Amino acid sequence: MGRYLRSLDEPITALRGVGPAAKAGYTELGVATFSDLLLLSPRSWEDRSTIVALGEVGDGQMANTIVEVLSHSWFGFKSAKKRTLKIIVRDISGQGDGRLSLLCFGRNFLEKSIRIGKVYYLWAQVHHHRGELQSSQFEVHPVGDDLSMPPQFGSILPIYPLRGSLTQRLIRTNVAEVLSQVDCFSDELPPSILERHSLLSTDEAIRSYHRPKTLDELDQSRRTLAFTELFYLQLATRRQDLSEARERPVHRPPTKLELALIESLPFSLTADQLTALQEIRIDLASRQPMNRLLQGDVGSGKTLVAWISALHALGRGGQVAFMAPTELLARQHAESAARLLGALGVRLAFLTGSVKAKERRLLLEAVKSGQVDILIGTHALFSAEVVFRDLRYVIIDEQHRFGVEQRLALLSKATVCDLLLMSATPIPRTLSLTVFGNLAISTLKTMPSGRKPIVTHLVSEMSRKRMYQAVGVEFSRGHQAYFVYPRIDDSGEDDVRDVTNMFEYLKEEYPSVPSALIHSRLDEEEKIAILRAYQSGKITYLVSTSVIEVGIDIPNATVMVIEHAERFGLSALHQMRGRVGRSHLQSYCFLVFSSSLTEEAKSRLSVLKHSNDGFYIAEQDLLIRGPGELSGTRQSGYLRLTFASLTEDLDLIQLARDEADLILSTDPTLLGAEHGVIRSVLANAPPFDPTASDA
Ligand code: ADP
Ligand code: MG
Repeated sequence: MGRYLRSLDEPITALRGVGPAAKAGYTELGVATFSDLLLLSPRSWEDRSTIVALGEVGDGQMANTIVEVLSHSWFGFKSAKKRTLKIIVRDISGQGDGRLSLLCFGRNFLEKSIRIGKVYYLWAQVHHHRGELQSSQFEVHPVGDDLSMPPQFGSILPIYPLRGSLTQRLIRTNVAEVLSQVDCFSDELPPSILERHSLLSTDEAIRSYHRPKTLDELDQSRRTLAFTELFYLQLATRRQDLSEARERPVHRPPTKLELALIESLPFSLTADQLTALQEIRIDLASRQPMNRLLQGDVGSGKTLVAWISALHALGRGGQVAFMAPTELLARQHAESAARLLGALGVRLAFLTGSVKAKERRLLLEAVKSGQVDILIGTHALFSAEVVFRDLRYVIIDEQHRFGVEQRLALLSKATVCDLLLMSATPIPRTLSLTVFGNLAISTLKTMPSGRKPIVTHLVSEMSRKRMYQAVGVEFSRGHQAYFVYPRIDDSGEDDVRDVTNMFEYLKEEYPSVPSALIHSRLDEEEKIAILRAYQSGKITYLVSTSVIEVGIDIPNATVMVIEHAERFGLSALHQMRGRVGRSHLQSYCFLVFSSSLTEEAKSRLSVLKHSNDGFYIAEQDLLIRGPGELSGTRQSGYLRLTFASLTEDLDLIQLARDEADLILSTDPTLLGAEHGVIRSVLANAPPFDPTASDA
């Protein structure tokens, strides 16, 4: 009987050489058991499988060859204690006879073990120095009579992440010991799948992943392990999808309150808003709690959809919580709610950290006794003191700003709760296929009518003057602007522009135009006062850090200037740009870049010049920066993939999804003989366990 890769629960301390110090290092890496150790993915592999002779190695590169020791000499101080040993060796691999000086800093003891006239395997990082080839980082191993390669030569060596006192050598021996203790690892995929996609057995795959003989073999083993992991991920999420889909959708018409709100609007809802509302109403009527993401570009009208859906939810009874990531944004939402819903008799309350003492106590009592229908606020909503009478629906704005724990804390205040997440950072396809596999998604693609696409310019230092003129023209038309800089004040270390200095500079550029400075160090009251003045038109432009990135809605602002644009991610830039272009007015975005910017970085920015499509931009962002930076994934901790990569394995993700769907559609209970292996893996040691990961 084989054992499952993820069922080896022997403690790491049972291995030779693992004492308290090594254990502490392993703990930091999250390694406690034998299984954990095998699931510790090398950061990279060092290819020592082919000879790289001294004559052909480039500066700073690794030589991997066989050498003969020619001589020992000494350099540095005269005194025997302080001098350093230098060993001259000659390449005898048969590919030239290059020479190399091994500098033994702090390793004079090598005088005894690296002997003149003897032959050694050598692995060394070399540098050219004054016409001499030198190395101070090297490993040698004597060539025995039988000429067999020692394990660290002639192979591909894994390079593991290290913590504390851990060394590559210790991890490699530990891994080897675990592998030798297991006779055979059980297969985790049905034979037909292995065959169809030419995958290895689990046993072959895990062994060669940690000690591949060739790069091809490494690739095949990684592919196998990644596919297996993705397959079980897909199986888990698709299974849930399919079971949810079985319930017949129930259509509930909009309530009287909803219709009253919709009729009171000076515009009509877009087709996508109507569809999203329809989808949400079906979810709210279903026995399954809703778990839906409402995604749509900045300004696409998500918030309005959320309020209308809240009215629908209130029609069933219970309370609603609406959470926003910043006090500023929460307040803006509370104000729009008061405008839209207050008139309909909905009882609203607003709670943030700055609501104090008596007022807070009264508010909390009202929430507890059910006198509040909708509670709007920041993460203060999930603090322990907040008790709802009957919380039934939670709406979270800018969901990627919150961690999973925060979301769970809020949800834990309700027994069964519907959840609507909103995000302006669209979820790229690779992620929606995996992380959000069981999350329903509604998308607002069409912008409210009458909006003009924002015109975006890339501006070099040289055209700065022209840009200021163009902005001045907008001011003369009565329009408003934002200037964004990465820093609050001058740190002195580089030439990055900061808000404090630029605020003064812009005053000279636009002498009689009223402006204000806004950044995270101002307290909330100040920020709110400034934004009010801006909203009312008393202030013409704001000089700001990226605090304005989220949510703020001021239709008369038509210019967004972002300096050092290269310092921001594309999605963040797109979000900031979305602060303008929120009305029928033509808006402009100027992305100012440093003169030293590389062509590559410029072409990255030009993605924004050519596209106003948040989905496309997010995909590009993902390709460039990797998924960690994107919505949900880093904070969610939901997706702990060991072998697969979300950026590089799109084909495998798709393949795994197709296979999972095929199996679930023909054998949903997995009782078929061919699927015994899947049942057994799920029962014993699933590669991806959705119940264990969100904790
Ligand atoms: P988001 O939250 O998606 O960024 P908002 O809900 O803040 O967008 O909407 C931006 C602005 O567009 C708001 O002023 C809102 O009142 C307005 N709006 C929403 N839906 C429509 C629509 N269908 N037609 C015109 N304007 C709309
Ligand atoms: Mg919004």
